[in-house]
Formats: sequence, structure tokens, C-alpha cells
Amino acid sequence: MTATTLAVNYADIDAAARRLEGVAHRTPVLTSRQADDISGAQLFFKCENYQRVGAFKFRGAYNAISCLSDQQKQRGVVAFSSGNHAQGMALAARMLGVKVTIVMPSDAPAMKLAATREYGAEVILYDRQQEDREVIAARLGQERGLAVIPAYDHADVIAGQGTVVKELIEEVGPLDYLFVCTGGGGLLSGSAIAAAHWSPGCVVIGVEPEAGNDAQRSLRSGQIVHIEVPATIADGAQTQHIGKLVLPILQAHVHDIVTVSDDQLRAQIRFFAERMKMVVEGAGALAAAAVMNKVVDVAGKKVGVIVSGGNIDMALFAECMARSAPVRG
Ligand SMILES: *Cc1c(COP(=O)(O)O)cnc(C)c1O
Repeated sequence: MTATTLAVNYADIDAAARRLEGVAHRTPVLTSRQADDISGAQLFFKCENYQRVGAFKFRGAYNAISCLSDQQKQRGVVAFSSGNHAQGMALAARMLGVKVTIVMPSDAPAMKLAATREYGAEVILYDRQQEDREVIAARLGQERGLAVIPAYDHADVIAGQGTVVKELIEEVGPLDYLFVCTGGGGLLSGSAIAAAHWSPGCVVIGVEPEAGNDAQRSLRSGQIVHIEVPATIADGAQTQHIGKLVLPILQAHVHDIVTVSDDQLRAQIRFFAERMKMVVEGAGALAAAAVMNKVVDVAGKKVGVIVSGGNIDMALFAECMARSAPVRG
């Protein structure tokens, strides 16, 4: 697969970075002596838990809406998500003066429904057992002339997510390794393209929950593997399959995909709170958990670790603080 056949290239990420300048937060890169001691490596945490809406999703959403024609912006956009993409889309659309409709499951947490409405989105509820949200979104797209913007399988979304790693490398220089959490693979594919261009030779590793290793199986087999909704506290990575645009990018630029357990995630969430004074959600802790548990040997290396988001239910957060064992490495 040559670079020219991929859906996104580094110039798309560069253009996205210009659109996001002064709009998205340039999130901090944090280090921790204790994390370095445990991993035996030099770690640079890129903290998207401090991004607008508390996760990197704002980047892809804002870039994708910005790229629409004026006529399409006047008609509006639609997205289906119960998580961070919904809030990213709602805020980005409001900032760009575009009407946004979000299709959410009727059993989504009340807090998430309220937050999405507060950003000014029209929320359409559906029954998770009876209906398919992709079908509903596609129908709304047709009936109302809305542009459908999915959470990961979209070139402008992937390009927006890639700006995370462009910023990281601009700040700390080239890396030996880069670890990125993986759900549908939008963040991983954007990150991998950015790393290939701005830090050639960097080994890019995706990390997903053990309960749903579909991305790992997809990359290793070359076919998109579909699974049931995995039972994991990493709800941001509870996807059932990676994207069609994503797979060829992973094949071209990602070295491997590894997994971590929910117990490792709980311990990592506690480490972030206790040692680094920050709140990180389950999916946000995936990449760090792989490095700190030495799932891949990175001793002596310079390693980028993406912390993707911080939107965790406070009851779950409290449970992680109370029950998880400290990370020892
Ligand atoms: C969406 C999300 C992910 C997964 O991103 P993909 O682009 O679907 O792979 C990981 N972490 C958080 C916090 C997310 O919101």
C-alpha cells in the first residue's frame, strides 16, 4: 500500500492543525519521574483529558465541520454517539454556527444527555435493542439534508485527530515509540500518519481493551473483524469494529496492537490520580497501562503516550481509587 492511496496524508493533518489553531487547546505534555522509573523508559504523556470537552474528539469534529461547504453548513450535521464524539460535535458545531443533531441511545447516562443538550444539540433518542443508530443517522441525513459525521471512519475526522501527535512531536522532538489507545482507530490512524512524517522510524503501537481485541485481530489478519460490544471500563473504546478507511492506514504505519486488562486500567487510573494529580477515563489510560506494565519492552527508549480523555463517571473513579492495587511495574 503506497501512501498516495491512503485516505489521509500529513498535509491533511497540517491543514487541520491550522484550522484548530487558537480554537482547540494545545494540551500539556507531562512527565513523571515515577512513571519513568516503573517503565524504565523516558515517557511523555500528551494530555488530551485537558482538551475542550475533556477528550481529543473535539479536534476531529471541528476539523470535519470546518471542511464542509457553506451550503452544507447551513443545512447542518448529524452524528451518532453516546460518548465524547457527541460532545465534541455539539461544541464544534456551536462554535461554527452550524445546527447539529445527535442520535443517542435512550439508556445513555442522563448526565451525558444533559451535557450534549447544553451545548445546543438536538438529541434524538433511539432504542438500542430495536434500532440501528447508523441507519437512523443515515435516514436523517437523507430526509433533512444533514451531513453525517461519524466518530472515526471519516478522512477529516482522522486528520483532526492526527494533530495530537503533530503537537507532541513539535514539543518533545522525534520519538522511538508511540502508544495510542484504539477504539474505531481514528486517533490511532491520524497519530500513525503524523508520526510517520514528523518522526520517521518511530514504532507506533495501538492499545485496546483485552475484552475487545478486534483491532488487533483486524490488523493481524488484514480483514475488519466485527465483535459484540466488549465489557470493559474503557467505554471510549467499546467499538465493535475499526473503520474501512482506518485499516489500510494501520497496515501502512502501525507496527502492532496490544491489549491491557480492566484491572490494569483501574490501577493506571489510580496512578494518574495519585502520582500525577489528574483525572483520566478508562480508554484514556489504555496506552499508559501498556507501557507501565511492560506489555512491550521499551527500556531506555523515548516514548510518547497519548492520554485520550478524562470523562469518567465519578462513582467508577472512586471505585478505582478504593479497589485497585498501586502500579508497581
Ligand atoms: C473515542 C475515544 C477513544 C477511541 O478513539 P478511536 O478514534 O475510536 O479509536 C479513546 N479514548 C477516548 C477518551 C475516546 O473518547
